[in-house]
Amino acid sequence: MPPRTAVFFHAHPDDEALLTAGTMAMLAAEGHRVVLVVATAGERGLADMEPGEELGRTRLKELYESAALLGCARVECLGYGDSGLSPKGGVADERPDNAFIDADTEQAAGRLADILREEEAELLSIYDPAGGYGHPDHVQVHRVGRRAAELAGTPIVLEATVDRDPLVRLLRLAGKVYRFPPEFDVRTFESAYSPGEVITHRVNVRKYTRQKRAAMAAHASQAKGGDGDRTLAVLLKVPGPLYRLVFGTEWFVRRDVPPGTRLRHPLDPWPS
Ligand SMILES: [Zn+2]
Repeated sequence: MPPRTAVFFHAHPDDEALLTAGTMAMLAAEGHRVVLVVATAGERGLADMEPGEELGRTRLKELYESAALLGCARVECLGYGDSGLSPKGGVADERPDNAFIDADTEQAAGRLADILREEEAELLSIYDPAGGYGHPDHVQVHRVGRRAAELAGTPIVLEATVDRDPLVRLLRLAGKVYRFPPEFDVRTFESAYSPGEVITHRVNVRKYTRQKRAAMAAHASQAKGGDGDRTLAVLLKVPGPLYRLVFGTEWFVRRDVPPGTRLRHPLDPWPS
């Protein structure tokens, strides 16, 4: 396969490590150019540090470290404000003036499309329409990403997701052996992400799970300390063999191929 360029669009630093790190590391190892774009610096994420600019700077530094571990050739931050999450989930009432959720879709898409054109990207990775677990900035990544691919004529658009069926099974199993903090509720995963039948790509990334784990650990502000209820902190406690099982596959939905199609590689052509 001749080298191509794949752009991975994420909402906040650490989303790349959780959702697409294995695929990014695999594509880079195969000689493709991997570009990481985040919409925000994640300055309102949960951390020991107060939300704000300094946290944003710390999280961008963590992002560069993670990107280097995964073999990214370029990292860009669009510089929108992290919209945050209301305590009930959903859109927070108090948010910065330039919150990503309030950004004009057409304008934000135009900025991403400029990068796609400049890179002559073959592939753009975004999120499913529900934004995975529903963070407003993740839903916005879907909208903006879809439109950007239209504007730039990017041939392959993949929606990074998780096959929720095995995820919920494994979390239940893990919960019997490891004590998850009470705030970590497995039930929130039951309506998140995507059911197995709509998934078109199951990418085997077992060879890259060490890099993926290292990328997660690079996001130290999200992975350590505090009350320990952060998703990253919980996931980093999963021991090696189980980790490979849970994180050895990454899932994507490609909407222009029939549901139920099974493609293995993100750059697989369609019709094949
Ligand atoms: Zn996020």
